[in-house]
Amino acid sequence: MAPQYISVALRRQIREDAKARCGYCHTPEAFIGMPLEIDHLFPEALGGATVRENLWLACTRCNDFKGDRIKAVDPQADDEVPFFNPCTQRWQAHFRWSLDGSSIIGLTAIGRATVQALRLNNDFILVARNFRRTVGCWRPLEDHSQDSEAEYNRSASSACRPRRSSVDRGG
Ligand SMILES: [Zn+2]
Repeated sequence: MAPQYISVALRRQIREDAKARCGYCHTPEAFIGMPLEIDHLFPEALGGATVRENLWLACTRCNDFKGDRIKAVDPQADDEVPFFNPCTQRWQAHFRWSLDGSSIIGLTAIGRATVQALRLNNDFILVARNFRRTVGCWRPLEDHSQDSEAEYNRSASSACRPRRSSVDRGG
């Protein structure tokens, strides 16, 4: 079956809802330098519809690692669970950043399974995150909502003040 056409208006809506960043690794489009892909949350190959509720943004790596799967193994329980759904679930409920801002930590079975299956802390992205940190582009402030104030202050060095990038505004 040929991929369904996604209208310009629908693409724009998805991009706005996703705040122009990957729904899984939260990498902003501005850091990738090319358009993020439209991810069918329930894969098109398995009959997933091309409708707003089934679409989100993903980077090429996350989208490729996800492929046509709907489940992954939670490494802690060795049990299959559904992937994180960026359209219906809160990122902060399933993931948090490590204190140095380099790694994504899974907090739940869904979070752990997604981190492992989509390799959210792969070697390439670790280099990019560390570079962003070095030049002062901290992770989005909203991802911090679960950190305590003290933890936040400890993790943000003076040379690396958190600030919102343009793609994170307006949400
Ligand atoms: Zn990603």
